[in-house]
Amino acid sequence: MKVAVFSTKPYDRRFLSAANTASHQLLFLEAPLNDMTAALAQGYEAVCVFVNDCLDRVVLEQLAAQGTRLIALRCAGFNNVDLKVAAALGMTVARVPAYSPYAVSEHTVGLILTLNRRLHRAYARVREGNFALQGLLGFDLHGRTVGVVGTGNIGLLVCKAMAGFGCRVLAYDVRQNPDCVGEYVDLPTLWAESDIITLHCPLLPSTHHLISTDTITQMKPGVMLINTSRGGLVDTRAVIEGLKSGRIAYLGLDVYEQEADLFFEDLSDQMIKDDVFERLLTFPNVVITGHQAFFTQEALTNIAETTFANINAFSEGKTIASNLVTAERVVRA
Ligand code: NAD
Repeated sequence: MKVAVFSTKPYDRRFLSAANTASHQLLFLEAPLNDMTAALAQGYEAVCVFVNDCLDRVVLEQLAAQGTRLIALRCAGFNNVDLKVAAALGMTVARVPAYSPYAVSEHTVGLILTLNRRLHRAYARVREGNFALQGLLGFDLHGRTVGVVGTGNIGLLVCKAMAGFGCRVLAYDVRQNPDCVGEYVDLPTLWAESDIITLHCPLLPSTHHLISTDTITQMKPGVMLINTSRGGLVDTRAVIEGLKSGRIAYLGLDVYEQEADLFFEDLSDQMIKDDVFERLLTFPNVVITGHQAFFTQEALTNIAETTFANINAFSEGKTIASNLVTAERVVRA
């Protein structure tokens, strides 16, 4: 089958080529998929896309008209695909539901530890010959309360890890998981009682700006907020106000609502035009990574293998039901 692979980086090429055991014809494109680039997939039955590729109505209609039948997402999230339009056009949308929940949960714990012990500041200080401890004071995680929103593959592991530090773990999910070591509570309780809040639910209409002025007001003064899920879960302007007032004392982000204009590219010799993002970078108690939580060898191997399992199945007239994303599934979530 002919597969157009958008937003390709050298590491994508390496891991996807290794997993292409059925020798599909791959076209590696550095460009992201959008209305300007969709024409590059002319005659390709499948497109392979990542988190910031745009699959809105315009793009999907163009792809369908050009012969694309399969959208193979090489990620778990699917908020960038208009699933109703894809279904109406008879397109199959398959994703990689779980590739390494360890990668993302471990990065989440890394952000918590970095912010608490100010490792980002300590690193810079020591390199400058500054060994003063003033401003680096942390707190014991042991005995603190951690609120985990979303207890699927990743959230479940975060609950376990934080319980391992001796934290009290509160959890919230629309569907409770019997394997969760946390105590399920409602969201107002989680906001009010948590010292650390970490988000692991998908971005859906119901979770858009879950973190808002209203919810921040319900949080403990001095709360640590972590988002390694999707940028749209957080109203960034509300969070900036929370940081300025001190209600939020630590912020760790691996995702950002407008990240499509920034992340995954080297922009170090350019002016960043996103003033909201630049304001975030001025706070000493904010650590941002550029959507790298998933980025481990194991995760890239699993992503590539599952992506090709989806492509192989489709090319044989089959599907892997558990990897399909449908509009009904989103409504249920
Ligand atoms: P998952 O599907 O296993 O779990 C998501 C959980 O969220 C489910 O238990 C679901 O019931 C719950 N949920 C749905 N709606 C909710 C709501 N309104 N409130 C609370 N919980 C709700 O997904 P996962 O593999 O654990 O991934 C979680 C998220 O992490 C993904 O949706 C994706 O956006 C993000 N992610 C980020 C990276 C990264 O590199 N930063 C990598 C992979 C996934």
